[in-house]
Amino acid sequence: MQQVLDTPECSFCHSKELELFYSKTTGLMAQCFECGFSCAATNEHLASTSINLIAS
Ligand SMILES: [Zn+2]
Repeated sequence: MQQVLDTPECSFCHSKELELFYSKTTGLMAQCFECGFSCAATNEHLASTSINLIAS
């Protein structure tokens, strides 16, 4: 039985230290705290309670 991954991680360095931020040009993004890699936020990111949404 496969478990749904509820803790998204950085696809670059696999750190779980991510944060969400909103940009007018790119929309909602998830950025890695460790390496700075960012990607478009997914439902996984939004559903995670371990990620803080920061306003910029
Ligand atoms: Zn990273």
